[in-house]
Amino acid sequence: METKEYDTVKQRVFLICKEASDVNQPLFIDAEESWIQPAIDALADENMAKFNKEKAIVYNTFQLYRKDRLTFLKQTIANAKANGFKVGAKLVRGAYMEKERARAIEKNYPSPIQDTKEDSDIDYNLALEECVKNLDMMGLCAGTHNEKSSLYLVELMHKYAISSSDKRIYFSQLLGMSDHISYNLTLSNYNVAKYVPYGPVKEVLPYLMRRAQENTSVKGQTGRELSLIIKEKERRSKLK
Ligand SMILES: Cc1cc2nc3c(=O)[nH]c(=O)nc-3n(C[C@H](O)[C@H](O)[C@H](O)COP(=O)(O)OP(=O)(O)OC[C@H]3O[C@@H](n4cnc5c(N)ncnc54)[C@H](O)[C@@H]3O)c2cc1C
Repeated sequence: METKEYDTVKQRVFLICKEASDVNQPLFIDAEESWIQPAIDALADENMAKFNKEKAIVYNTFQLYRKDRLTFLKQTIANAKANGFKVGAKLVRGAYMEKERARAIEKNYPSPIQDTKEDSDIDYNLALEECVKNLDMMGLCAGTHNEKSSLYLVELMHKYAISSSDKRIYFSQLLGMSDHISYNLTLSNYNVAKYVPYGPVKEVLPYLMRRAQENTSVKGQTGRELSLIIKEKERRSKLK
């Protein structure tokens, strides 16, 4: 029964990837919890091999808050090199940290999540460099609201002499979040995709709640954006 259902999923994902390929539009496959991810990785790998011959159409998502994902990214690149296709990589830090840690404790296995935020940041930036270094056989999308990582990618593009508008590199932020990053990058000629959560309300709302919750944490984006707004208000009040 499960095999039959998986075959149906496989066929549907194939049809979506084929359509993306026919209309020449990149397709991002999101990453989920670590216990679901192997099936998603298998589907992504299979379709990358089929549809990414000329350029990256199908993108898998790599969550760098996981200890094993930098290695997995390198393996994916090596496999693509050996088999003659391009890798599509959306890099994110990862959205299910608490759930992952709670499950690891409950089921008594080592947590797959990095020990600290700094460790996630380090691997995220190393992954950016890995992709930029291998850009001849990649498409990269940096899905992040983090200013430092966004700036670091800009620096890497300078370092490796890649034009700001090179179509193989996209920055991406959610619609309504981190507009200061999206707008400033766009103004400087970088490619930016605004991610629009779309679907049934009962599924989209929990997704947005998760983003809002992580963004209100001490080190989160809302705090950073709020301090920028306060700074700008002060600057403007001095102009009066
Ligand atoms: C365009 C786009 C697409 C996305 N797609 C996906 C997806 O497919 N799958 C998915 O899981 N998420 C996805 N996300 C969400 C993403 O994984 C992050 O949760 C979110 O963007 C916040 O991380 P940040 O890089 O913006 O920056 P920051 O605000 O600097 O980082 C916050 C993140 O750091 C990590 N972190 C925080 N504290 C710790 C700690 N103590 N130890 C270890 N790590 C820590 C967590 O991942 C946390 O979400 C997407 C985000 C964007 C913008």
